[in-house]
Amino acid sequence: MGEVMPAVFFGHGNPMNAIESNTYTESWQKFGQSIPRPKAILAISAHWYVPDMAVSGNTSPDTIHDFYGFPRELFEYTWPAPGSPELGLHVQKLLQPLDVRFDEQRGLDHGVWAVLCHVFPDADIPVVQLSIDERKPPEFHYETGKLLQPLRDEGVLIVGSGNIVHNLHAYVWENEKIPPFDWALRFESATRSLILEEKDRELIDYRAMGEDARLSVPSPDHFLPLLFVLGLRRKHEQISFPVEGIEGGALSMLSVRIG
Ligand code: ZN
Repeated sequence: MGEVMPAVFFGHGNPMNAIESNTYTESWQKFGQSIPRPKAILAISAHWYVPDMAVSGNTSPDTIHDFYGFPRELFEYTWPAPGSPELGLHVQKLLQPLDVRFDEQRGLDHGVWAVLCHVFPDADIPVVQLSIDERKPPEFHYETGKLLQPLRDEGVLIVGSGNIVHNLHAYVWENEKIPPFDWALRFESATRSLILEEKDRELIDYRAMGEDARLSVPSPDHFLPLLFVLGLRRKHEQISFPVEGIEGGALSMLSVRIG
C-alpha cells in the first residue's frame, strides 16, 4: 500500500471555465500537478442529483452538455477521459448493502469535466461518477463518504464538485466581480471554520445556520458533494483551500483539499 491519496471538493461555478483560463483554472491545474498520479477518479457532482443511487459503468463516457445559453464552442467541447467499469463495480461492492444501480449509459456532467479538464488535461485517467440520491438526508451522504475511504489507499482520487454558496437567483450576471453579499461571505467563512475545527456534525446540520444557510444553499445539490468529501477525512488530517473567491456575489468557488 502506497501513500494515501488526497481527496478534494471543487467549487465548479460557470461551465465556461472549461474553455477559459483564469485564476480558478490555474489553481485546478496546479492541484493536478501537486498530487500523486491517481489510478482512477471517482467523482460526485451536484449535476447528478437524482432519486436513486447509481454508479457509472461506461467504458467511454460522453461529455454531457447539461446547460443552455452558452456559446457553441462550449457545446462542441469534449473531454474524452475513459470510464472504468471495474471501479464502478468495486464502488458498488464497497457500498453494500446499499442498493447502487450500475449505469452503463451515463456520461460525465459539467460539474466533472469543466474542472477535471484543467486538473488532468490529458484526459487519460479513468473517471467514474456516483450519483447523489436526492431522497436521502445530508447525514447519509457524509456516511457514504466514510464507506468510500478505502479507495484513498488504492490510489483513487475522490472528487466532490459543487459550490458551498450557490444562489443563482441572487447571482449578479452583469457584474461577476461584484463584492460578495454579506450572507454569502458569512456562510462561506462559517463553513470554512467548521471544516478546520473538524465540526462535521454542524456541517451536516448546515440548515441550522439559519438565514445565511437558506440563502447560500437554497437547494442541497451543490452543497452535498462537500459532505461526501468530509466523510473521507481521517482524524486530524491536513486541510487546505487551494482555490478561493466568490463570483457574482453569490457563488463560492472555494475548494477544500484533504491530505
Ligand atoms: Zn453547478
